[in-house]
Amino acid sequence: MTEPRREVDAVVVGAGFAGLYAHYRLRELGLSVQGYEAAADVGGTWWWNRYPGARCDVESMDYSYSFSPELEREWTWSERYATQPEILRYVDHVAERFDLRRDIQFDTRVTAMRWDEPAERWHVSTDQGDEVSAQFCVMATGCLSAPKELDIEGVDAFEGTVLFTSRWPHEGVDLTGQRVGVVGTGSSGIQSIPLIAEQAAHVTVFQRTPNFTMPARNAPLDAETVQARKAHAREHRQAMRDSRAGVVVANPEVSALSVDDDERAARYGTAWEAGTLYAMIASYTDLLVNKEANDTAAEFVRSRIRDVVDDPDVAERLSPRSHPLGTKRPCLDTNYYATFNRDNVTLVDLRATPLVGVTPAGIRTEATEYELDVIVFATGFDAMTGPLLRAGIVGAHGVALAEKWAAGPRTYLGIATAGFPNLFLITGPGSPSVLVNMMVAIEQHVDWIADCIAYLRAEGAESIDATPEAEDEWVEHVNAVASRTLFPTAASWWMGANVPGKPRVFMPYIGGFPQYTGVCDAVAHDDYRGFSVRRASTGERSATAASA
Ligand SMILES: Cc1cc2nc3c(=O)[nH]c(=O)nc-3n(C[C@H](O)[C@H](O)[C@H](O)COP(=O)(O)OP(=O)(O)OC[C@H]3O[C@@H](n4cnc5c(N)ncnc54)[C@H](O)[C@@H]3O)c2cc1C
Repeated sequence: MTEPRREVDAVVVGAGFAGLYAHYRLRELGLSVQGYEAAADVGGTWWWNRYPGARCDVESMDYSYSFSPELEREWTWSERYATQPEILRYVDHVAERFDLRRDIQFDTRVTAMRWDEPAERWHVSTDQGDEVSAQFCVMATGCLSAPKELDIEGVDAFEGTVLFTSRWPHEGVDLTGQRVGVVGTGSSGIQSIPLIAEQAAHVTVFQRTPNFTMPARNAPLDAETVQARKAHAREHRQAMRDSRAGVVVANPEVSALSVDDDERAARYGTAWEAGTLYAMIASYTDLLVNKEANDTAAEFVRSRIRDVVDDPDVAERLSPRSHPLGTKRPCLDTNYYATFNRDNVTLVDLRATPLVGVTPAGIRTEATEYELDVIVFATGFDAMTGPLLRAGIVGAHGVALAEKWAAGPRTYLGIATAGFPNLFLITGPGSPSVLVNMMVAIEQHVDWIADCIAYLRAEGAESIDATPEAEDEWVEHVNAVASRTLFPTAASWWMGANVPGKPRVFMPYIGGFPQYTGVCDAVAHDDYRGFSVRRASTGERSATAASA
């Protein structure tokens, strides 16, 4: 690292929904801010993921900012679940409306961040040769922005076209007449396969783990629905923040095992028709804590798969049996299961016939070779920790974040990590993040961070750092809450299980959004309990125990 050439109050890394709102709030506080974004423009997830069928699976009217009532009034979504192009238009509108591109340098990746102890500042370096010194760093790097490294042999030798859903070409791809292989059946695979199948000559779907997916029942939004929501926007937004997952769902009242089969079937039938991510799992109180209860819901979904898919053998291979419903990120789809009734779609079950590798002509399994013109990898992300660990962060005493998190991420509230002063994580591990509507989580984190910085400035404080004791207590709490559920039983990306060698730790906080925000508010109210704050005037650190 060379000497910093410029000083700013804050660096914001990333220009997705989180980064943009961080710019808005920090600028409001009068801070000088430098933003860096690896992509060529704003949008984050919605700039990178342009595959056919990419759309949100939290309803658009909820999956949008709430901080500006004017913005809410003037923007109208066209569909219940907006497509990626529409979401990107929204991000563009927000960036323009609030002049948020001004301080962001695009096509620039932050490659190293070092805490300069004597100066009590971060020294940030980029792949474009920038060297900047900042009092605060806000990591708006996203939970799903670091594509998983491919662990499949032979890809370089493939003579056809290789595509990644997470890096889809901006000019689009014409798959007409092509033999396409899709590897991966997580959310991106499930969204894209039906549309790829409509275009391609043939689609071969390579499935390792079948996922639970529910019909989105997407539709254009009618003017009446939009007006009704806009008229009650404030109350609705508050209800979202007061709900477990950042979307308004009626809370279940009874156990799945306390009602008879007919009543359960009727209830699941209603949830299936609702076309939302959370309706099914919110049907009963115990679906995420009791395997027997969960089996009733899982079997209901499997029965729907059998209803839709003509070939019973294909239906069985599409039926998830290795994890309870809801313990891996569920998906919403349009025509996913029905796509397997098409003549031009083949399902290859990699559990029955494991993948050997990519060959120059296609993909080889232990049973046969599939000749392909195009391979689409929908293989997911090194979630939550990946983007942070790839930013080369080194904290106090020269300790690298990668070293500190070798056995899994450790944070206080998912916002800070001890030994890395003035470094703020947005939707970091240990916060509700990917378990909830992320727009709600992002706004709450950015607001908390902005309030914290305002507090430090008002106090004349130089730096803030989580105490190791507060962090230990929080990590213990996060793990304890998760261990009371079925979540840790699934080999999910929430557990880090999709990345070879990644520590198996349930990363997000499952205690519920209102519970979590209650703790965050109390911590702030109690002069940032569990943090140590160093004030310039005295040079002293003050800290309050987390459980005070
Ligand atoms: C296909 C897809 C669909 C999704 N749908 C939903 C949904 O319906 N509902 C929901 O709640 N969530 C959804 N998510 C999660 C989604 O990621 C979040 O909702 C939200 O967009 C995250 O915003 P963000 O700003 O935190 O992160 P991102 O949008 O991921 O933005 C982070 C940005 O940081 C940049 N960056 C990272 N590291 C660096 C670095 N070192 N230097 C410079 N720049 C860097 C990246 O390039 C990226 O642009 C979806 C995710 C995917 C992948």
